[in-house]
Amino acid sequence: MFDMADLQNGWEIVIGLEVHAQISSNTKLFSTSSTEPGADPNTHVSLFDAAFPGTLPVLNKYCIDQAIRTGIAINGTVHEISVFDRKNYFYPDLPSGYQITQFYHPIVTDGEISIVDDGVQKTIRIERIHIEQDAGKSVHDLSQTETYIDLNRAGVPLMEIVSKPDIRSANEAMLYVKKLRTILRYIGTCDCNMENGNLRVDANVSVHKPGTEFGTRAEIKNINSIKFLGQAVTYEANRQIDIIESGGTLVQETRLFDASTGETRSMRTKENAADYRYFPEPDLNPVVVTSNRIAEIKNSMPELPDVKKQRFIKQYSVSESDADILTEDIAIADTFEQVVAKLKNQDSAKLVANWIIVEVFGFMNQYSFSIDKLPFDIKYIAELVDLITDNTISGKIAKTVFAEMCKSGDSPSSIVEKMGLRQISDENTIRSSIAAVLEQNADKVAEYKSGKDKLFGFFVGLVMKELHGKGNPEIINKILKELL
Ligand code: ADP
Ligand code: MG
Repeated sequence: MFDMADLQNGWEIVIGLEVHAQISSNTKLFSTSSTEPGADPNTHVSLFDAAFPGTLPVLNKYCIDQAIRTGIAINGTVHEISVFDRKNYFYPDLPSGYQITQFYHPIVTDGEISIVDDGVQKTIRIERIHIEQDAGKSVHDLSQTETYIDLNRAGVPLMEIVSKPDIRSANEAMLYVKKLRTILRYIGTCDCNMENGNLRVDANVSVHKPGTEFGTRAEIKNINSIKFLGQAVTYEANRQIDIIESGGTLVQETRLFDASTGETRSMRTKENAADYRYFPEPDLNPVVVTSNRIAEIKNSMPELPDVKKQRFIKQYSVSESDADILTEDIAIADTFEQVVAKLKNQDSAKLVANWIIVEVFGFMNQYSFSIDKLPFDIKYIAELVDLITDNTISGKIAKTVFAEMCKSGDSPSSIVEKMGLRQISDENTIRSSIAAVLEQNADKVAEYKSGKDKLFGFFVGLVMKELHGKGNPEIINKILKELL
């Protein structure tokens, strides 16, 4: 049903994302209960988390600092004064009957994130970041007769990061979340483990014809993978287009994405701010952060992905797309730089980039290894690249060495010696192999001389075979040209 024809019909998708990122903190936002995942139900619950009357919230300042770091990382305005509000609604896993959040005065406003879609840079504006508590979890048992409440998550600290409706395709939406995840992991304010629910996305989707007002949006709740985000947005935009084109009207509503069918379905009509009766939280003072403190945090920030990417391009002459890949994950970026630092020949950083992106990633994907748990010392990547650049082995033989290195964990030079893989660069040896090949193929030599240039590769192949794949290709080319 969804095809390009719909979009060519003049429709444009408009998307704004609300990302809930769990702040990396060992304790909850307003109590000292643990945030450790995987514990037995209701073992990380203080009296305050369970909303016992008379208990009071005590603000966890660490969480404020993490929100400030995040605000700085997205180039936002960090406010010296922000205020917590009560958002009132009833839900069984929300025992207090309200969520403490920041509605009127969030801690961060006006940020931005830069994405690159198919080589084209685009800036997505961020409206706000506010801090809030998570709710508990309702667990429905298999017989569908009982529902249990687990309050371990109740009060876990979240940042809600709200974009402007600047996103225009499912792909841009996915790139935005990936980039946000990269940034949050660089600065360590959220581990972004989507399987554990530490990064959840609400996607607001509408369609319209460019130049006209935005259409009515649907909000798709709690999407927990980037792939599902792409599917949900695509399905939803298409559903809306179908309704409008067949003469129907859309209602503003909250929908759920069902990963098993790839469809969205209605959950409830959308409530408005007024339905929540927001008012300032009476049990907490406004959050005051001095400009000194903000400056201090700013000075302690690590190098951010966009800056690192530009530095890689300049310092190591890697291509823009390689720099993008290398800086997407801080652990990869660090590994790349550690390998380069070990090189004898500093000019081969580009080759290191290539080896990491093609061979090391290929190995990691095939055998599910992460970069910090490779079965060989990463200095061996540098050693391998040095062996290529000093002509000890060819790039092709290096792949054999790499495969062996992944298996045994041995150093590349010891593998080259043990397996006798050293490249043959000795001109006399190569010259005599070539002479033999040319002699055995006098007819082909004649054809070559009468203009069949393509046979050159054929001779190279035969010589390589003579030399068991270890001949230095450059020297073979040179001498072969000479003798022909
Ligand atoms: P709420 O908190 O009720 O969901 P907000 O006004 O805070 O409402 O907006 C939530 C998100 O909806 C924001 O990310 C915003 O960019 C997005 N949004 C607003 N209008 C539209 C629209 N017409 N189409 C798509 N997204 C929209
Ligand atoms: Mg919302």
